[in-house]
Amino acid sequence: MGHLQPRVKLSFCIFIAAARVRLLHYLMATTSPLPCVRLLATGGTIAGAQTEGRGYAAATISVEALLAAVPELNSLATIEVEQVARIGSQDMDDTVWLQLAARAQAALDDPAIAGVVITHGTDTMEETAYFLNLALKSTKPVVLVGAMRPATAISPDGPMNLYNAVAVAIDPVASDRGVLVVTNDEIHFAREVSKTNTTQVGTFKSPNRGLAGLVNRGRLHFFGPTVRRHTVTSEFAPVAATELPRVDIIYAHAGLRRDLIDAAVSAGARGLVIAGVGAGNLSTGALAACADAVRSGVLVVRSSRTGGGVVERNIEINDDKHGLIVAEELNPQKARVLLMLGLGRGLDAAAIQARFMIY
Ligand code: ASP
Repeated sequence: MGHLQPRVKLSFCIFIAAARVRLLHYLMATTSPLPCVRLLATGGTIAGAQTEGRGYAAATISVEALLAAVPELNSLATIEVEQVARIGSQDMDDTVWLQLAARAQAALDDPAIAGVVITHGTDTMEETAYFLNLALKSTKPVVLVGAMRPATAISPDGPMNLYNAVAVAIDPVASDRGVLVVTNDEIHFAREVSKTNTTQVGTFKSPNRGLAGLVNRGRLHFFGPTVRRHTVTSEFAPVAATELPRVDIIYAHAGLRRDLIDAAVSAGARGLVIAGVGAGNLSTGALAACADAVRSGVLVVRSSRTGGGVVERNIEINDDKHGLIVAEELNPQKARVLLMLGLGRGLDAAAIQARFMIY
């Protein structure tokens, strides 16, 4: 028995040491302050309330009321609230984007803030997310969150989306992945995500490169990094502009005439994005209008209305001959964002084409 005594002593010492570590962790968890999140509210259905009949109005409920519906947030993070706008995201525009970017950058530059959550309508969420993905300089998580059902609906999706968004925003594993969109237990990269359904809660998809990850009641699971430059490696961040150049989107269809392209140029557009048919095609007459637009100094990007895939140079259309730019993987609304930022920096067609390959 005598030779066992040192082993028993050792086991006892290990047990005491482990108990001390557990006690320390417990004390740290119960006494250290919760991470701090800045919540920038802009409106949308997540803050919407039902009206008479089957209708509802976006952006009618205060952020405080939204937060009060999710008391579980109190044990996750300290949340500082700032109302930047109170709109349905169909009214989102460059002016609000620039204000939002300024407020988000201020929050990210604050060492006390772990991450930023932005409540936003779902209609144009992908555009705002991609704009911020290129306009903010920080590795801290920035998460856009919305809802498809208003806060007063049967089974609203906003509360769980909000809880998950805050969980993503405070988790260091979500750092340096660019701006993220969290809805329906899914995490999407700003560059990839698109709204694909008018009403369903699973409306957001990332058709070309897939999901960034999943978030289940606050537990995160990332599948991989994003592929292109964003935030800290974006040359457009932090955005300093006070306005953005006008860029219009023209939706192609069978029988597309040149008139709308000519009208956009006459109205002062500095850039045009064609939501082309198939791989970014457009009718012969519309193509001639685009070539004329380029000759008059307007930059023209070919994208696709299909919702997925790549638009490559010089396949059915001779982009070199007409001086056109192709959107590569970006859908028309995101191609518009990159074209605005490129034009704002005074880049020419060749330089902007190169940016479509790296952002
Ligand atoms: N129209 C609303 C908005 O984009 C729709 C939503 O939030 O789901 O603000």
